[in-house]
Amino acid sequence: MKALERLHLKELLDQLPDPAFVMTRSGVYAAIFGGRDTRYYHDGRDLIGKRISDVLVPAKANWFLKEIAAVLNRRKMHVVEYELSNRDIMGLEDVDGPAETLWFEGRVSALSFQVNDEDAVLWVATNRTANHRLQEQLRELSMTDPLTQLPNRRQLNQLLTEYLDRTKRYGEVVTVLMWDIDRFKRVNDTFGHEKGDEVLVAMATLCRQHLRRTDWLIRLGGDEFVALMPYTGARQATLFYERFRTEVSHLVGSLNIEGLGVGITAGISLIHQDDETIHDVLKRADQALYQAKDLGRNQLAANGV
Ligand code: GH3
Ligand code: MG
Repeated sequence: MKALERLHLKELLDQLPDPAFVMTRSGVYAAIFGGRDTRYYHDGRDLIGKRISDVLVPAKANWFLKEIAAVLNRRKMHVVEYELSNRDIMGLEDVDGPAETLWFEGRVSALSFQVNDEDAVLWVATNRTANHRLQEQLRELSMTDPLTQLPNRRQLNQLLTEYLDRTKRYGEVVTVLMWDIDRFKRVNDTFGHEKGDEVLVAMATLCRQHLRRTDWLIRLGGDEFVALMPYTGARQATLFYERFRTEVSHLVGSLNIEGLGVGITAGISLIHQDDETIHDVLKRADQALYQAKDLGRNQLAANGV
């Protein structure tokens, strides 16, 4: 190993793209190698000799200390994900480095020797911020309907799962109001698909405007939507529907699509404490919707309220 003398080894360690921290059980930064590119990392050389609790806010510092202890106790490498914003780090004002919140993947392993008479770990931190953002964007896209920008069926399933849980636990009253545009195909057939799109967006926007902030509006697909209304019983949901239907009749005029029979039909149901899955309530609302269509459209029917 003549080629790798001490000096070379030090340079090699410093050239590592990701910073590697030697941290003791009590939270002292004993050494830092690599991670010199200030586009990705703050210059950490000032940290040497300091304690985590001198540098990070208590909640973050404690989290680091717990991770270090867990790795030292299990003697197994841990892979952890964490976020560090400027709010978490004290005294960053004079340090070069990125300004935005950073996401890291940490790989933490126990060292076989002691440092400053303490057990210690090697903590390699990789900046995963770009990847994290991309993942967030993908998640957002996969949950959003591109035409109306409303949440889609996938997000509805998640929301309903949460609300079913809350109804089971706390008896929370949640109404599911499913609505479908009447004779929408005639809009497409008479004025073209683009006009159809415009009508869809206008109806969705109108509905959203009349719902409360705590309500959700989801595009199920085609011309079918679901308003998910927490803390709302059937009577209030019916009043909402009546208002919405009146507004839709005005909208039909302002969009110049009168005479085709365009209106709004809805079916409502409540989440039941004994519903086994979210499909139970969706099925009841769907049955009510179809009953209301059968009864002549532009009206509401209820099922299981
Ligand atoms: P009903 O009163 O029974 O609801 O009749 P309808 O004409 O509204 O027909 P239905 O709900 O069965 O079909 C909805 C139509 O909506 C079918 C499809 O051509 C059209 N559609 C679905 N998605 C879109 C879209 O994104 N844009 C447009 N322009 N049309 C769509
Ligand atoms: Mg329809």
